[in-house]
Amino acid sequence: MRAAKQPLHEGKMMKALLKSEDGPGLTLEDVPKPEMGINDVIIEVDRTGICGTDLHIYNWDAWAQKTIPVPMVVGHEFVGRVIDAGSNVTDFHPGDIVSGEGHVVCGRCRNCLAGRRHLCADTSGVGVNRPGAFAEQISLPMTNVWHHHEGIDLDVAAIFDPFGNAVHTALSFPVLGEDVLITGAGPIGIMAAAVVRHAGARYVVITDVNPWRLELARSLGVTLAVDVTSTDLAAVQQELGMKEGFDVGLEMSGNPDAFRDMLSNMCHGGKIAMLGIPSEDISIDWNHVVFNMLTIKGIYGREMYETWYKMTVMLQAGLDLQPVITHRFHFTEWEKGFEVMNSGKSGKVLLHWNQELPSGSERGQASEGESE
Ligand code: NAD
Ligand code: ZN
Repeated sequence: MRAAKQPLHEGKMMKALLKSEDGPGLTLEDVPKPEMGINDVIIEVDRTGICGTDLHIYNWDAWAQKTIPVPMVVGHEFVGRVIDAGSNVTDFHPGDIVSGEGHVVCGRCRNCLAGRRHLCADTSGVGVNRPGAFAEQISLPMTNVWHHHEGIDLDVAAIFDPFGNAVHTALSFPVLGEDVLITGAGPIGIMAAAVVRHAGARYVVITDVNPWRLELARSLGVTLAVDVTSTDLAAVQQELGMKEGFDVGLEMSGNPDAFRDMLSNMCHGGKIAMLGIPSEDISIDWNHVVFNMLTIKGIYGREMYETWYKMTVMLQAGLDLQPVITHRFHFTEWEKGFEVMNSGKSGKVLLHWNQELPSGSERGQASEGESE
């Protein structure tokens, strides 16, 4: 059954990208292949996405220093093929195309027992607290493995994790016919914009301070991509003929000014879903929240597995995420991937782990002269 992929399964070692010591950077090393328990699935990684979290780990900022035990194989956005499964596993077979949910839940807390696994009190993060996907193989509990639909674009399959963050946030409140403000045109903000447009929002306004990213957002189709260093949101409302403020806000920058700006441009009764992770305490004028009766909901991860289901069917219904993927590298060129992420002139950056090099190892988008 798994003859085609047998060679990778031979031998005890594999290549992996890891944080091997307390300090900036990563190293590409030979590490033992993952072990498989009776409930686990072994996946041969095909391609991976670099997440902002991986960048924090690479740059070794304060969060990473207090969170990541070393050594640790990093990465959690991936697609691959099943090559082996434990004796309890009945519905995954060699050759299946799968991705992994990056939060491994405890299964025993109140929320897990009630089926609200995204609210688990004790999650463990793939590539954060347990070995990750920037490797030739990964082992995951079968309850964390998602079967892709036939014909899935492998690039898009590789980014189901952040796509899921976007979908979870974007669909937290009804958007049909509503005016939606998204602060932060990073890869997740841009995917959220595509999702709310697909879901029938009237106006989709996205903001950033980075012109490159605003241009990328425009290429995916938004009503307006606004540089908040030169245009304020009151003027935007006026330009669009809006009178009462945005109905739904998706905070996807983690930036205090962006959040404050959002609060003062919401309609009465407006709903805000907050995904962006603030790098510092944010003080706000609570009068906006109280007198305008705003709802603010924090978002973490994806709903297991309702978000995954929605992602799948939206793609089948024609949602196109290809434009958000701007760069592709072979894993041996991983440093280039992290460099371009640090430059801010990227959407999603992929690393390929299969033997073949991707056709044209990178692809510039929305900007000239950015092919490196
Ligand atoms: P990113 O850092 O690539 O994008 C954030 C964007 O916000 C950047 O393009 C930045 O230029 C922009 N920005 C900065 N200041 C701004 C301002 N004043 N107004 C508008 N935009 C501004 O991040 P990403 O990968 O797209 O993720 C989005 C956010 O979600 C990040 O904060 C990330 O840490 C967070 N995140 C949360 C979860 C979760 O489960 N809660 C999961 C993944 C990512
Ligand atoms: Zn739990």
